[in-house]
Amino acid sequence: MTSSRLASVSPDDIATCVGCGLCLPHCPTFRATGEEALSPRGRIAIMKGVADGHLRLDAESVTFLDTCIQCRACEPACPSGVPYGRMIEGAKTDLARTGRVSPRWLRVGLSLLRHHRLLLWSRPLLAVAQRLRLVPRRMGLPRLSWRNDAPLRAVTGEPDVWILTGCVMDVWQRGTHRSVAELAERVGLRHGIPGPEGSCCGALHTHAGMHDESVRLAERTMRSMPGHAPIIVDSAGCGAAMKEYGRLLDTDEARMFSARVVDAVEWLATLMDRDDIAPLLAPTRSETPTVVIQDPCHHRHVQKVHGATRRVLRDRADVIELTDDGLCCGAGGAYSLLHPRLAEEVRDRKVAVIESARAGRSDIVVASANPGCSMFLASAGLPVRHPVDIVRDTILPARTKGVAR
Ligand code: SF4
Ligand code: SF4
Repeated sequence: MTSSRLASVSPDDIATCVGCGLCLPHCPTFRATGEEALSPRGRIAIMKGVADGHLRLDAESVTFLDTCIQCRACEPACPSGVPYGRMIEGAKTDLARTGRVSPRWLRVGLSLLRHHRLLLWSRPLLAVAQRLRLVPRRMGLPRLSWRNDAPLRAVTGEPDVWILTGCVMDVWQRGTHRSVAELAERVGLRHGIPGPEGSCCGALHTHAGMHDESVRLAERTMRSMPGHAPIIVDSAGCGAAMKEYGRLLDTDEARMFSARVVDAVEWLATLMDRDDIAPLLAPTRSETPTVVIQDPCHHRHVQKVHGATRRVLRDRADVIELTDDGLCCGAGGAYSLLHPRLAEEVRDRKVAVIESARAGRSDIVVASANPGCSMFLASAGLPVRHPVDIVRDTILPARTKGVAR
């Protein structure tokens, strides 16, 4: 089935673009290709042409829309306040509903994310497949270990904070959840973890245009963490999606839930600014790590919490800033699977800037707060750690071998 319309894109939103082009230098696909159709202005022109009936939604125009990474760097760059994020989300939803983007294999793969046991099984299997060179390079996976780390356990009693465990993050970067839990314990907070209903927040589904599944997963996630306690999220993409549940579901309940969501670095920064708590989080090690900060797009352009990353690292690490004004790394949900060449071109630019900042020093790690970005950059050979893990290691003793890092 095909459709010639983009019914979920509001004509009023389209009309806010004045075509000034100030967003173009911030767009990674425009920077990589120099093509107007692969820029925010070009994509909005396609949406407008389709809405006005001047343009057919043919294979080429669908590709131009589908190759948007949805990094949303164009939003803060736009002086007219064009709500590009919800426009491209609407376009992707319409295109996915008619089967023109997000192929069946991707939808089946994403629908498995809510089945957490299956995901946990997938890690050792993928590790074996990697050793046998059966995993395509375009999956952008770093070298995986065989073992699943021990799961996080909730502290008994009413939680002071929840820690979202989620899907990909809990399978491949569980050590970061553990760092959040250890830091919560350090400052005297009991943490809860969601049950099986909190096994996927739906961020990747929204990205792929799977609107109905995103709504179902958002409702499940909300049920999994009842009450009023803040919800700490250590994956930038998940936190951004959960902060937008209010818009996705358009209910007061969803808006109240979204207001409880706090990114892990945002939460830590708030604690470090409290005189009664800051001493508990003071560094206890003499060594000072040197880190290059890579801002995930959903941290910088959507949640706008990149200042918190600097706040939590500044007193305990030598921080090196990149010079590319937060340009995307190309990971973008399942983007690197769907558009591997363009994703790698975008990543190559990012890696070059990072390597220039590291200036050949192998001890300098990259601090990145999103599992997609960190895995995609790690698969290019960079050492990447979550900022919360870096902070944790400046305060608490090293973990014993075999416990998640
Ligand atoms: S999206 Fe904003 S910055 Fe880009 S062309 Fe339109 S009005 Fe200008
Ligand atoms: S969301 Fe990112 S990739 Fe898409 S048009 Fe905006 S800047 Fe370009």
